[in-house]
Amino acid sequence: MGYPNYAAYSLERTMAKTPEGKPSLITWDEVTTLFHEFGHALHGILSDCNYERLSGTSVARDFVEMPSQFNESFASIPEIFDHYAKHCETGQPMPAELKERMLSSINFQSAYALGENLAATCLDMAWHMLPSDKVPTADQAADFETEALGQVGLLNNQIPPRYSTSYFNHVWGGGYAAGYYSYLWTEVLAVNIAQVFADRGALDPATGSDFSQKVLSRGNTGDLMQMFSAFTGMAQPDASGLLKARGYNI
Ligand SMILES: [Zn+2]
Repeated sequence: MGYPNYAAYSLERTMAKTPEGKPSLITWDEVTTLFHEFGHALHGILSDCNYERLSGTSVARDFVEMPSQFNESFASIPEIFDHYAKHCETGQPMPAELKERMLSSINFQSAYALGENLAATCLDMAWHMLPSDKVPTADQAADFETEALGQVGLLNNQIPPRYSTSYFNHVWGGGYAAGYYSYLWTEVLAVNIAQVFADRGALDPATGSDFSQKVLSRGNTGDLMQMFSAFTGMAQPDASGLLKARGYNI
């Protein structure tokens, strides 16, 4: 499926319909969704490849969300925030105190979000690593889930997996088989990329064009990890960046 269709589909599903005669006011989730989808759009718009099947967003599942998740980070950069977060009637930027409170609440409940994501990720992996002769019956599925989560220290009634076995639909027939981890892995890549921008100046045009040249324009025409390294200068992604971005002091 081409990217433009996907973007329209995603935005249509997430944006609240504007009441008749009222301005279109959107939530923070909707703002970050806009930035997210625009990251996918840039991956397509800036593509400079000969073959469609190797261009733009036609990359591995654990890489394709990197440009979009990275682009979300721009939503909370103060200069950019001031540019779009304006009063709908007066056009004034959001008052400093409100802005500070809003931006400091971004990581509210991030431990819960990470816990439920990790539990679902490990559950997906546990099912897909089973040899065919060890697959439990439907009646044994709940026990298998309990055991699998216990083994990785994620059996916690207060933070259940985001998807439990009986309704983890997309990892069975939806193409994510053993690939649910990709959301977190791609976030690791995204925060590492965002750190390069933070170090060089998020609005630095030279860094933007370097990112475009070394990553966004290249689609799937090279080794994806080498593209990551070429831009960041890092031999390997650094997972500690993910925890920092989610507000943990490590
Ligand atoms: Zn996406």
